[in-house]
Amino acid sequence: MVCYLDNAGTTKMFEQCVEVHHSFSCDNFYNPSALSEQAMGVSKLISKAEKYVLQRLGASEGNVLFTGCATESNNIAVKGSLRSGNWEYVFSAGEHPSVFNISKKLELDGFKVHIVPLDEAGRVDVARLEAVLNERTRFISVMHVSNETGAVNDLVKISNLKNKKCPKAVLHVDGVQGFMKIPFSLRSIAVDLYSFSAHKFHGPKGVGGLYVRNKGALKELFQGGGQQYTLRSGTENVSGIMQMCKALELIDEKENFERVVEIKKIFNSFLGADGLIVKDFGGSPYIENLIFSGVKGETMLHALNQKGVIVGLGSACSSKKAGNRILEKIGLAKDEIISSVRISFNAYMTDEEVEWAAKTINKVYLEIKEKVS
Ligand code: PLP
Repeated sequence: MVCYLDNAGTTKMFEQCVEVHHSFSCDNFYNPSALSEQAMGVSKLISKAEKYVLQRLGASEGNVLFTGCATESNNIAVKGSLRSGNWEYVFSAGEHPSVFNISKKLELDGFKVHIVPLDEAGRVDVARLEAVLNERTRFISVMHVSNETGAVNDLVKISNLKNKKCPKAVLHVDGVQGFMKIPFSLRSIAVDLYSFSAHKFHGPKGVGGLYVRNKGALKELFQGGGQQYTLRSGTENVSGIMQMCKALELIDEKENFERVVEIKKIFNSFLGADGLIVKDFGGSPYIENLIFSGVKGETMLHALNQKGVIVGLGSACSSKKAGNRILEKIGLAKDEIISSVRISFNAYMTDEEVEWAAKTINKVYLEIKEKVS
């Protein structure tokens, strides 16, 4: 048996996307910017796809830029919002490296940057956020759901705060671990930019998007053919966009959410090895951390891998680096961080699969603990 528990890293693509790929690569393969009837047909389908994504985001206005991944969406969001002048830029300390590393670069380049700390549940500390917002705030970036802990930020509260303290500021949300996982609607949240990535919700790799409430607020970053409102020049990944829409069609996020709550309950109920601590920050049911007291997380990852249980050590992009910036920020002790692994579920796992995985985890941990003690 194999049980894949690293779904925050990536998910298995729906089989139905393969047919869509074939159709838009080999049959309806035309360049949407060309002038033939066939090409214009493809262009219309992209416009339709944009409307469909807006609908799934619950947005009543705005546009969607189709990108190559959420890293690109995040870069467009932050860098496209930079302006010269006496402006301030605000980032939560919990951001994914594709946002956080930009904030570090901006500091080096002389921009005024505020990094807002996290509370003990891993969410951005709203009181500390309120304290730094002012009329010079140009841009705020707060992720929807933490890819490390599953902590869910209160976007309603944060957007209300923005409207109160700096209504002209741009609020960007990295929604990679939220979109299609946590039921929400952009209709009730004043978010200006929202990033997402298809491979996190059973779509293909190499396609993502950026919701843009007001196109005029974004600067053009690369020059080219002027596609996608001149904000993302380059021929669109037509097949990727259509496959992403197929994945959206196949997901009912409310149903999936409820199923994952159930899966997590079953999984946790079978974890019982002495010294194994479940670190659930009470946010998204899709993610939790396990602490294997006395044994390195990395040792557990490899040992479990050999038995068919695939887990993660946090952000796939940073998992090769020592330590964990986010777990440190929320006050976990060094030995807890070294001993932790990230578990992330999907809605299509069976009860038997997660029961088997939890029992295997207990067994492997006890065996290794005995050897190292
Ligand atoms: N933001 C978050 C919260 C993520 O979890 C990830 C991927 O792990 C990314 C951004 C980057 O996504 P992509 O792989 O599409 O660039």
